Amino acid sequence: MFSLQRQVYLDNNATTSVSRPVRKRMMQVLKGYYGNPSSPYSLGRSAARILAESRATVAGAMGAQAEEVIFTSCASEANNFLLKSLSQHYLAKGKRKIISSPIEHPSVMQTLEYLESSGVEVCYLSVDSQGFISLHELESLLDESTFLICCMLANNEIGTIQDIKGICELARQHNIHVMSDCVQALGKIPVNVNELGVDFASFSAHKIYGPKGVGAIYMKGDLPLCPLIHGGHQETGIRAGTESLHNIAGFAEACKAIPDSLAKQQQIAQNKQFFINGLKGLNEALQIISPDRACLSNTISVRFPGLNNAVLMATLDLYGISASAGSACSTAGTEPSHVLLSLGLSEEQANETLRFSLSETTKQRDLLYTLRIFSNVFAGKTPEIQAVRASKIDKAFIENPQNYLLDIRFWHERQMLKGIPNSYEVSFLFFKRYVKQIPKNKNIVVICMGGIDATAIAFTLKKRGIDNISFVLGGVVAWRLAQADLYKEIGGFNITKLTPS
Ligand code: PLP
Repeated sequence: MFSLQRQVYLDNNATTSVSRPVRKRMMQVLKGYYGNPSSPYSLGRSAARILAESRATVAGAMGAQAEEVIFTSCASEANNFLLKSLSQHYLAKGKRKIISSPIEHPSVMQTLEYLESSGVEVCYLSVDSQGFISLHELESLLDESTFLICCMLANNEIGTIQDIKGICELARQHNIHVMSDCVQALGKIPVNVNELGVDFASFSAHKIYGPKGVGAIYMKGDLPLCPLIHGGHQETGIRAGTESLHNIAGFAEACKAIPDSLAKQQQIAQNKQFFINGLKGLNEALQIISPDRACLSNTISVRFPGLNNAVLMATLDLYGISASAGSACSTAGTEPSHVLLSLGLSEEQANETLRFSLSETTKQRDLLYTLRIFSNVFAGKTPEIQAVRASKIDKAFIENPQNYLLDIRFWHERQMLKGIPNSYEVSFLFFKRYVKQIPKNKNIVVICMGGIDATAIAFTLKKRGIDNISFVLGGVVAWRLAQADLYKEIGGFNITKLTPS
């Protein structure tokens, strides 16, 4: 069914692979240091030692002191916590304004949106076409009510590196805190919280070849933070709960490799330029969205005029290439990237844009292979399918007798989420046994759980002569989000289970 020649992973801003030393260290800790770091006997004390050593290593990697680092479960938690806790503290003191960039990660953007409903005033700076904020504009917005400036160091979608040092100098003159999401910057550019001058920062292990499920907060001195989780003394009482020691030790091991990662950035930048030149050589019309200065060396955002990014992503996936159409945290959503819209792109242009993020292990031959696939795409040699946004699947769409909804989810996925009404269920694994039953005179809409498996089936059907074929972007997960009321009202209604022939 698949024609995956090889795997080329160009989505390292979403997550990186876990390095061998990190895996080894985590296994050591899981095996030999299973004691609770809070227990007083030797097994607990040895776990506490690993925790302390890890904290010192992670702190060192960001230029902080060990006591300034709080471990969390991820950077999203760190961002949520910082914003909510600071708002709680300052609202009680009569200060209510946060100034932020409009191109922050969803874990910042959506927290700010939530905070607005509890009385915080959020003021968004404008950004230019490459994502840079203006210090002049920032200065003009600062006032007595402002308690926080929130601006990421490096953007995850386009790679823009902001002048956080300049922001901090301004903030200091007005006695205002600065919080910076440093998740994408760590390991790609030198990050030193003291040199930057930030008061708070967030980090994540899985962007630097460490494990998923662990992040960190940098917090300068005794700045005010209300506890995130009550019920224990861990993390200086700010975040109760037994520490995830193997993850924390894995994070520390990943941090040890940062100097080596920084030394490799030049090679990564050369690979990035090689890829950009190759793409431009194939298609003069494409537009590089990432800035040509102050940009992460691994990140390339490219607009392919006339091509839909969801379809492009699906085509690349068919050939084993992973790229992304925005933040990994919002790809199940149905909206175009807020980052690209903030740069001034139209919705249509944003939906023509893909992000490629390289790693230390990306080889030129991976990029050559990707360029070869693009050359086929531009020459119309790859099969064409359509993507349907989940928000378009409303009652009228579902009830249209011309639409034939084909649900290819696995059994366990069907237990988790109800299907789109009027759909026909088939088995993904034994799909060939159902093909004859699929009508050729209807619009076949393939649905999977998250939007990726469906593309493989859509391509298979296309090759078998079914022309009107599309897949649902983001699958049932996105449909449930986009059509929450419909999901509650009629999700799972009138589903037909096809029997294999
Ligand atoms: N901030 C930025 C800039 C990110 O790119 C990400 C992850 O994509 C996050 C925060 C969230 O990190 P985590 O997955 O650890 O919650």
